[in-house]
Amino acid sequence: MSAIVNVRDVHKKFGENEVLRGVSFEIERGQVVAIIGQSGSGKSTALRCMDHLETINSGSISVCGHELGTGTVNLRELRKDVGIVFQSYNLFPHLTVLQNIMLALKHVRKLSREECSRKAQYVLEKVGLAEKAESYPEQLSGGQQQRVAIARSLAMEPKVMLFDEVTSALDPQLTGEVLRVIEDLAKGGMTMVLVTHEMSFARRIADKVIYMYQGMVWETGGPEILTNPQTRELQEFIGTGL
Ligand code: ADP
Ligand code: MG
Repeated sequence: MSAIVNVRDVHKKFGENEVLRGVSFEIERGQVVAIIGQSGSGKSTALRCMDHLETINSGSISVCGHELGTGTVNLRELRKDVGIVFQSYNLFPHLTVLQNIMLALKHVRKLSREECSRKAQYVLEKVGLAEKAESYPEQLSGGQQQRVAIARSLAMEPKVMLFDEVTSALDPQLTGEVLRVIEDLAKGGMTMVLVTHEMSFARRIADKVIYMYQGMVWETGGPEILTNPQTRELQEFIGTGL
């Protein structure tokens, strides 16, 4: 069995602060993995290491066949395979929705203008925003902007998508529309890693849950660990209602 993501005994320090202390996990193709845990437990750092936005101090990470250890990494090839979406949408305000998506395609995929436009239209339809192609980001709600950011990532046809608390900046009524897009991707078989505070969402769509505590994988298992946690730390975390 070949995992699409293999994280082995990863250590990561910022100065003297060791924020990942021997993190290991595997993700199979098509799996949806939710990473949960207190603020500061290393969730974002773990995710960022998987896209080589942070380099690790020791251990190994393999993502879609890319080895993200201490050696050199072909970032262009990695970016083709791994998409990442953040809490902030980072859309270019002076470009239309369609242009925002096309720009990324042009740079990473080196496709013709027609091909970029076609693909951009296609992914906008997927996130339910085909009619907003000519709008500018400021004309959209936060939820719509986040869906554009997801579409932009999706346009690259990644094999793995990483989501870092993508609904945290949104009002509750806008969260649902973004979660629905993510759920559709999950149903379509996308391999995904979600750092999330949305416990009921994680319980519903995750195949696997990783609870991080102080830079370690403290408890991991199926979504049932959210209703039946084995460690005192996860019990307390869930008890806080986060
Ligand atoms: P989480 O996403 O679980 O809230 P993070 O991975 O963002 O946690 O952060 C884990 C720890 O690493 C925190 O103590 C944070 O302050 C620290 N940290 C994160 N990024 C940096 C950075 N770029 N420089 C220094 N410290 C950082
Ligand atoms: Mg974080």
